[in-house]
Amino acid sequence: MEKVRVDIENKGYDIKIGEKLLDNISSYISNEYKWMIVTDSNVWSIYGELFERELGGNKPVLYSITPGEEQKNLHTVTEIIKSMLENNFTRGDKIIALGGGVIGDMAGFCAAIFMRGISFVQIPTTLLAQVDSSVGGKTGVNLPEAKNIIGAFHQPELVLIDTSVLKTLPPREVVTGLGEIIKYGLIEDYSFFRYVVSNLNGIISLDQGIMPGIIKRCCEIKAKIVTQDERERGIRKFLNLGHTIAHALETATEYKIYTHGEAVLLGIYYEAKMALKMGLIENAYGEEILRAIKATKINLSLKGFSVSRLIDIMINDKKNKDNRISFILPRGRGRVEEYLLERNIAQSILLDISEV
Ligand code: ADP
Ligand code: ZN
Repeated sequence: MEKVRVDIENKGYDIKIGEKLLDNISSYISNEYKWMIVTDSNVWSIYGELFERELGGNKPVLYSITPGEEQKNLHTVTEIIKSMLENNFTRGDKIIALGGGVIGDMAGFCAAIFMRGISFVQIPTTLLAQVDSSVGGKTGVNLPEAKNIIGAFHQPELVLIDTSVLKTLPPREVVTGLGEIIKYGLIEDYSFFRYVVSNLNGIISLDQGIMPGIIKRCCEIKAKIVTQDERERGIRKFLNLGHTIAHALETATEYKIYTHGEAVLLGIYYEAKMALKMGLIENAYGEEILRAIKATKINLSLKGFSVSRLIDIMINDKKNKDNRISFILPRGRGRVEEYLLERNIAQSILLDISEV
């Protein structure tokens, strides 16, 4: 088993990573407390039996939702909290978030607000959640007007990552995780980026010989960054590499065309092209990034997108200041920096580099 410590002051926690970790789930779930498992019906139909068998002596209360981002809202949060009240949960009891990013964000948010905050354990089951969203304590839900607009920073007390659950993921969900994995190499560790690129097929086929190490390295990098900057006042922004463009593409397509990770892969591709255009990185390095993204075989065409509409969306993003758009761009091997670009400059660069 691999272990990563997230050393945030007064609320540090461990991330435990390994194949078949969930076979020992009962050793992590103390029967001193009541537990509520928040999950979705896809995940529960595959892994429910294991939990029922392993936690038989301390049967958790189950709250299973219909899968999908549409459920990540205040109505579901209220229903989960009502169910905790009906089951006499107190401030000492705990939540297990068992699922992908949707479940992690929403169950974490319930933990952040129930009786002003209780403990929770993250058990991420998608590659995206295992390498990215389950670590760092961002929790929240959507409004129809804006994603993740209601939320709180609330760190879990433990993150349990069982790499064998990835085997039941739809293939598209694996490529989705890849976007964030490549991101970690580019922001912090060039040799990890090289390792990921040379093991792309092993990652796509979820080779259990390499997955725990890859997930561990992503968690280490995220842990290091969020430990220094829990609330995104400084370097946590670097985790947004690829995301300025990704969010614009997701918004422009109403979240219907790309998964988050696919949008991030496109975002990294075009942000690397921006960095090349702006002379921030050597050609050889830029080309290496572009080749890596192409090797994932996702469709990189921006045909049908209006660049000025994408820029409008970016301007309205909550991360911007003074009408300038924040981009995190590669600035050397394994290094990124923030650039605040005026609207017309960003627009002319993007027009220049978009591929159809
Ligand atoms: P993320 O935001 O992490 O990409 P979601 O929470 O949107 O993920 O989950 C994506 C889809 O994958 C959902 O339909 C969910 O039910 C399903 N899912 C999650 N984990 C697994 C798993 N281990 N095996 C099969 N399906 C899964
Ligand atoms: Zn992301």
